[in-house]
Amino acid sequence: MSDRESFGSVLDEAVAIAGRWLAGTRDGPIPPSADIEQVKDALGRTLPERGPAPEDVLRRIAAGIEPGLMRIGSPRFHGWVMGGTQPVALGADWLVGAWDQNAGLRTVTPGVVAAEELAASWLVDLFGLPATAEVGFVTGATVASLVGLVAARDEVLRRAGWDAAERGIAGGPRVRFLVGAERHGSVDSAGLVIGLGRARVVEADEQGRMRPDALRAALADDSGPAIVCLQAGNIHSGAFDPLDELIGIAHDAGAWAHVDGAFGLWAAAAPGLRSLTAGLGKADSWATDAHKTLSTPYDCGIAAVADAGALHRAVAQHAAYLASSAGVADPADRVLELSRRARGVPVYAALAQLGRQGVADLVQGLADAATVIAEGIRAIPGAEVLNDVVYTQVCAAFGSDDRTRAVGEALLAEGTALASPSSWHGRAVLRFSVSNWLTDAEEAGRTVAAVRRAVDTTA
Ligand SMILES: *Cc1c(COP(=O)(O)O)cnc(C)c1O
Repeated sequence: MSDRESFGSVLDEAVAIAGRWLAGTRDGPIPPSADIEQVKDALGRTLPERGPAPEDVLRRIAAGIEPGLMRIGSPRFHGWVMGGTQPVALGADWLVGAWDQNAGLRTVTPGVVAAEELAASWLVDLFGLPATAEVGFVTGATVASLVGLVAARDEVLRRAGWDAAERGIAGGPRVRFLVGAERHGSVDSAGLVIGLGRARVVEADEQGRMRPDALRAALADDSGPAIVCLQAGNIHSGAFDPLDELIGIAHDAGAWAHVDGAFGLWAAAAPGLRSLTAGLGKADSWATDAHKTLSTPYDCGIAAVADAGALHRAVAQHAAYLASSAGVADPADRVLELSRRARGVPVYAALAQLGRQGVADLVQGLADAATVIAEGIRAIPGAEVLNDVVYTQVCAAFGSDDRTRAVGEALLAEGTALASPSSWHGRAVLRFSVSNWLTDAEEAGRTVAAVRRAVDTTA
């Protein structure tokens, strides 16, 4: 392909394919129709000696892969906690690919770093984090928690007189790692990776919120450096840990408070929901996602740490060949990656387009749609909503566990709405997450209608 113009026709083909796919976002069937083996067959399993023209490759991968795609962008996709993508964020993401900048260093790629720094400062403002907080753009909330927790680990050790950067962690004081009974599993993984071992589990209440008395007792039980991992947004109930009180208890015991708010941190940006996050800004580190609530494309997570020095000491890279900026932190000083795509640019784009009010409306709209789904399900004979619907999550049961599972299967088979099967507090549930910018009251009503049909077919 020596033709310099070839970008044009290849990208035109990509735009045409994407346009056809995206046109089905609202009304196309949600679940995939092909499985992995079928997709591999369609793509061709043998590495060719030489391949066809790039446009032909794109057409082949579209034809092969699209039957195996889940329409996560559908306004009635309520599986797990996944978001769709807004046009402006997708457009910006395409530009990030076209520009192909290595976003690790300020002086090398000032354009994208500037946009990411603006997005970072807007996020700090929207979430009500301390002005000292620094933000790193990572692949998702799992890695965002990893970044927050590694800064936490080294800092609580430093305060205990142990320099982990110099000596490693073996032989140092044991760091106590406390999590709520209903934390997300990503927090355990992050703790294991950084050598904290199995977390001590602190009891939660009936909505899955960590209990302050239980945290106080767990901290009093032992001494030494400690990290407390709190949650803003429980994946089953949407509940928020009582952050203000829990952070106070953690700090009184000298512990670092980290908040996993993969989708819940965004409640702080909506005045009608902000009280759920009271005290949030007093924590020491936070993890959230842009690819869920903000509806930017995968993959984009956000790590924030109040004590920038602690963050830099834990993750910054130092090498003479890197054109590091004297006295100012580089993006690579805030995350574990050096080379990475400028995934903060789609965040900038989404925030610039929505504005403060638009973000508030987006988040409030998701919570309102969840209320519509909950009320609609409660009105179905034999159906129950098991959680207090305070945010974006609805956990429903339809009689026996078998019946609940059958309703989930019928819903999936029809394909107009999707919820994920799970179990919560010992019961099978169908969990509806509302994390897509397109889900409004009308779409929520269509989801309820689909649930009613699924209930009728399983009667
Ligand atoms: C989704 C989620 C995570 C993990 O986020 P990824 O972006 O998938 O890494 C962590 N915590 C909670 C509460 C989540 O909902």
